[in-house]
Amino acid sequence: MKVPNSRLILPAVAVGLFAFLILLAPWRGPDRSYGAKPGGLPAADLAGFSSVAPIDAHAHLYKDDPAFGDLFKRLNLRILDICVIDDRDPYAKGLEPQRGDVLKVRRVTDGRAAFCTTFSPYDFESPGFAQRTIQQLDADFAAGAIAVKIYKVMGMEMKSKAGKYVMPDDPAFEPIYKHIAAQHRTVVAHIAEPDSCWQAPNPASPDYEYYKQNPQEYAYAHPEWPSKAAILAARDHLVAENPTLRVIGAHLGSMEADVNQMAQRFDRYPNFAVDTAARVPYFMLQPREKVRAFLIKYQDRILYATDIVVMPKDDTAKALAEFNDTYARDWKFFASDQMVEFKGHNYQGLALPAPVLRKIFHDNAVHWLPGIMGKP
Ligand SMILES: [Zn+2]
Repeated sequence: MKVPNSRLILPAVAVGLFAFLILLAPWRGPDRSYGAKPGGLPAADLAGFSSVAPIDAHAHLYKDDPAFGDLFKRLNLRILDICVIDDRDPYAKGLEPQRGDVLKVRRVTDGRAAFCTTFSPYDFESPGFAQRTIQQLDADFAAGAIAVKIYKVMGMEMKSKAGKYVMPDDPAFEPIYKHIAAQHRTVVAHIAEPDSCWQAPNPASPDYEYYKQNPQEYAYAHPEWPSKAAILAARDHLVAENPTLRVIGAHLGSMEADVNQMAQRFDRYPNFAVDTAARVPYFMLQPREKVRAFLIKYQDRILYATDIVVMPKDDTAKALAEFNDTYARDWKFFASDQMVEFKGHNYQGLALPAPVLRKIFHDNAVHWLPGIMGKP
């Protein structure tokens, strides 16, 4: 077969591939490693980020490589390092080995990774459940835990012996929430999922790949699960029932599609805030001026966060690049008016005022997560 103009096709393919990689780079990251070199100052695009003493209020760093400590120091960064229990995930079946791994990470980062513990909700019907859980939490608080994660298995997986789905406001959990409030710790509530979890597969959705890879978490394939509205109502109920408990709704409190849903909760519940973990693109997908006005109005209620996951066996260089690239992209989006690319579309950055950036990237975490700055 004759290949016409092969000398022209090859460079064209190479240029195309290069352009494609450039497009992909700010989102996928592992090929880029700027700022990931040991020592030195952060790369130019992270200088503004570093200057606010940023806090990533939602990450899962389980690998205790000192390179992460070096990166955090260079970026002047702190993270909330979150444990999660999910019996569908071999690493997350129990609190160990995560708890041990997070404590090691805290050590190698010189305390820049703060410990967020969790508890197993699965045996909530067994006698003494609340008392046992409180004992475990007290041990974790003594070990420095500043927050407690609750997870979407409440409402989307767990069933009672009677066959009913167990909601996050189940009375079995109430003494635990009361205790967390009394100990001045914070609850990080990953309850429900994005709307897309209940919708038919849509390649344009930010979550399309996730549910493809995790079909067991895809509500669309489980019509027997409670509705999203019912799960969020239970979450709201627990927030209302515990007015002295600080609750941070992870992933924009699963109200990612419309900022008005968050505004409504912020107006109703002074003890409620949200983190942006894994949901920054949803701000891009809504009208820019609406999102900008929302972030300015509720500037005390939004905590910057990524949801970056680094497992003990993951490649350190790749993970460092992912931290760098995610922070660079997000800072560009929140702080500048430059274009940011997501799934083939360009979105203009929000150019938020400096005092608002300072709150979202630092102050709010200090307020909502007492202890995040380490021991005074
Ligand atoms: Zn997470």
